Amino acid sequence: MFKNLSKIESRYLKRIYTSVVEDRRQITSGDLAKIFNVRTPSAIDVLNKLEKKRYVKKEKYGYVTLTQAGYNVAVELLHAHRVFEVFLVKNLGMGFSDACKAASDVDHIFDKEVIARLCVYLKKPEKCCHDRVIIHKGCGVKNR
Ligand SMILES: [Zn+2]
Ligand SMILES: [Zn+2]
Repeated sequence: MFKNLSKIESRYLKRIYTSVVEDRRQITSGDLAKIFNVRTPSAIDVLNKLEKKRYVKKEKYGYVTLTQAGYNVAVELLHAHRVFEVFLVKNLGMGFSDACKAASDVDHIFDKEVIARLCVYLKKPEKCCHDRVIIHKGCGVKNR
């Protein structure tokens, strides 16, 4: 889905989005280091890569935010992540945290069309298993 995005970069984008947009809580490189259990310089390294791709902006005092492009990518990533998570839990009976882990491994490499079809198959679920709202944008299925 996002050829230029590594798994770790996509995890950072999703985490920045849930914090800044969903929880309205600012986030710093230090917070991200703690969340991902790495040292701050490694978190900054990932953020630098995302900044080069113009997905994040670094602000004063170590705060990080998403650019419009980064926001769009995060919405799409979280859609894929949460739709797949719902499928794993509801249809395959997996536990929440196992489902979340499995979804994180593949959400950034999913084919858009596959996710769109899965989403429609699941009747466009409103919320994921962690009770977060799923935004449906462009997951209508193409007519052939
Ligand atoms: Zn998850
Ligand atoms: Zn959808």
